[in-house]
Amino acid sequence: MIIASNFKTNHTRASTKHYLQTLDTFVKESGSKQEVLVFPPATALDSFELAENIRVGVQNAYPVEKGSFTGEIGLEQIDEFGLKTILIGHSERRHIMNETQELCAKKYDFFKAQGFEIVYCIGEPKEVREEGIDAVIAYNETQLEGIDLLYDKLIVAYEPVWAIGTGLTASPEQIEETLVKLREKIKAPLLYGGSVKPANTKEILQLPNCDGVLIGTASWDVENFCEMIEIADSM
Ligand code: PEP
Repeated sequence: MIIASNFKTNHTRASTKHYLQTLDTFVKESGSKQEVLVFPPATALDSFELAENIRVGVQNAYPVEKGSFTGEIGLEQIDEFGLKTILIGHSERRHIMNETQELCAKKYDFFKAQGFEIVYCIGEPKEVREEGIDAVIAYNETQLEGIDLLYDKLIVAYEPVWAIGTGLTASPEQIEETLVKLREKIKAPLLYGGSVKPANTKEILQLPNCDGVLIGTASWDVENFCEMIEIADSM
């Protein structure tokens, strides 16, 4: 299974280093076979020597090698650390930074051409969920426009916006009914994200169409994150 942590705007360079050392020791000592992804903030990126099933990725980047894009990082800055994993389309970038589908698709194409593993996020807001599953699927499909779903290094994270950072988790039934529909067109691994924590990890990972979880808040504490990896190992 894929167990991923999104630090968002949390952790420093020093605390990321400590986090990754603790995680690395845990994964090596436990012999965990999960695929573990960690997305620290850009300032904490580095070339880390970690267990082969732990990969560090970038939360965001501009689709250029380098250039005049103040405040952004491009391929040159990522390549310096040999990183090959990126998160694209997170709801906070779409809804707070107003990132359009066109820009998400542009980033996708650029980093796909560079052979990156891409965790591509989709998810509907609350008012759409309230309209029912057909509206949910139609909305999520708009976030797949321009995205090559056959790319072999694609991972799709279904993250309902109303469940992210709110403490509200979609019910197992809501998650599974959505993943089943998405599975009709997406063969890539499907993750669920939205207030995943140790207490609900098992019931989410047990869902037939769920290949893993993308975790924000509950993963910022490395002990909690290791506990969720341990839960996946125990299944
Ligand atoms: C996320 O940022 O992708 C996320 C799922 O956050 P949280 O776990 O805090 O809801």
